[in-house]
Amino acid sequence: MRYPKVLSLALAAALLAAAPAHANRQQTTMLWAAMSAAERHWHAVPCGGQIAMGTAAALPGGARGFASWDPGPTNCRVTLQARYLRIASADPRATWPMFCYLITHEFGHLLGYGHSADPSDVMDPVFDLVNWSNTPSECWPMPRF
Ligand SMILES: [Zn+2]
Repeated sequence: MRYPKVLSLALAAALLAAAPAHANRQQTTMLWAAMSAAERHWHAVPCGGQIAMGTAAALPGGARGFASWDPGPTNCRVTLQARYLRIASADPRATWPMFCYLITHEFGHLLGYGHSADPSDVMDPVFDLVNWSNTPSECWPMPRF
């Protein structure tokens, strides 16, 4: 894994809590790169960097990701659809824009942002598969996997 040499303390804390216990190296690399992009996008790390990442077989509405903070910002969690995480890590070059969008979107929720109807906004809940218009600019250039 190649990690940036300079880490924010908060993001380092997030990394410690980040990878689901069963995540493989490729999944951990993708999570790290997407969290770095999300931090650059929001200029913040939610929940003081204490974010538990996990997977679930199914999420409400068939979503690929879900953010929760119950009972409060000391218990932040991002849950990814397990199947999607496997698909994304199998071919990150094909799925990176959506994966990076997804993590940035969920971190946005943890920072208090709701959904946007602007199709170029990362908080638009519908990913733009055609033009990638709501893929945050911070997701580029694509990391080397
Ligand atoms: Zn959302």
